[in-house]
Amino acid sequence: ARVVDADADAIERSKEAALRPETLEEFVGQRVVREQLGLVLSAAVGRGTPPDHVLLSGPPGLGKTTLAMIIAAELGTTLRVTSGPAIQHAGDLAAILSSLDEGDVLFLDEIHRLARPAEEMLYLAMEDFRVDVVVGKGPGATSIPLSLPPFTVVGATTRAGLLPAPLRDRFGFTGHLDFYEDDELRAIVVRSASKLGLSIAHDAAHEIASRSRGTPRIANRLLRRVRDWAEVHGSGRGDMEAAQAALDVYEVDERGLDRLDRAVLKALCLRFAGGPVGLSTLAVTVGEETETVETVAEPFLVREGLMSRTPRGRIATADAWHHLGLAPPAEAVA
Ligand code: ATP
Repeated sequence: ARVVDADADAIERSKEAALRPETLEEFVGQRVVREQLGLVLSAAVGRGTPPDHVLLSGPPGLGKTTLAMIIAAELGTTLRVTSGPAIQHAGDLAAILSSLDEGDVLFLDEIHRLARPAEEMLYLAMEDFRVDVVVGKGPGATSIPLSLPPFTVVGATTRAGLLPAPLRDRFGFTGHLDFYEDDELRAIVVRSASKLGLSIAHDAAHEIASRSRGTPRIANRLLRRVRDWAEVHGSGRGDMEAAQAALDVYEVDERGLDRLDRAVLKALCLRFAGGPVGLSTLAVTVGEETETVETVAEPFLVREGLMSRTPRGRIATADAWHHLGLAPPAEAVA
């Protein structure tokens, strides 16, 4: 076989792109954010000026990138995409900023991972639409102020609390995305199935939705696996048999816990007797980055009532022990 693209993430993302809603109207759920953002955008369009900078926070896969695309589309402008980790030096950011056209939307994913010098340059650009470009090196270096056309930053972060206050304050609107309800996810699954040309049974859509950890990205991914199973082993239709079989193959349990979630719970119960244990210790034990455990596994486990956070560390609830098929110790919290 010929290897063309070794970046599995990029391939996955290009498949996601096909399923993205393109207008606020088409965007399912997040009623509050949708309404607030709708107002910000309509007012800006009415005035003919770019809207305030927008900060979107929430766990991965809930639609921050999708919303950024929708914002640019609703404003009828161009979306420029970059991310905190992609900007190594302030100069990288200066190059992006100075190439913006009036009204452009600059999407900054993982904005909390921006390096300090770039962050400071961003404050100034967001506030005064100005950037100081440093020319030359050492004592002879001079800084040339460059004014920028008005534009809008859409920042995305897994937790708004991770941002330093001065940066947070420069966003005129902050939208918090929360996990989706099962019926919203079912609507997303049905919509995506129709885009994929897959006929999906009502109960199968429900099954996928209820095992998607409240996350559209996971719902869409599971749906594609169900389609695979249906085409390879099944009738070609997204029926309940295909849904259950595919979810088993990919080790997604009946409450939607995946391998990482279960590894975290097992470590918590079996290695640390139910806790309390610090998050970074837990992450090392399961061989994951602390940030992944903190932003991906923990919010879901807490929401499911399987883990709780205490000042002394994370603890497993009685429900967690039951879920692993174990008897909880007498002191486990309900
Ligand atoms: P990350 O921050 O990790 O990039 P994200 O929050 O930006 O994640 P998106 O990439 O926007 O997530 O969304 C992931 C997938 O879920 C996309 O394929 C998108 O089509 C789908 N999706 C997200 N939100 C919705 C929604 N409200 N309605 C329909 N589909 C959605």
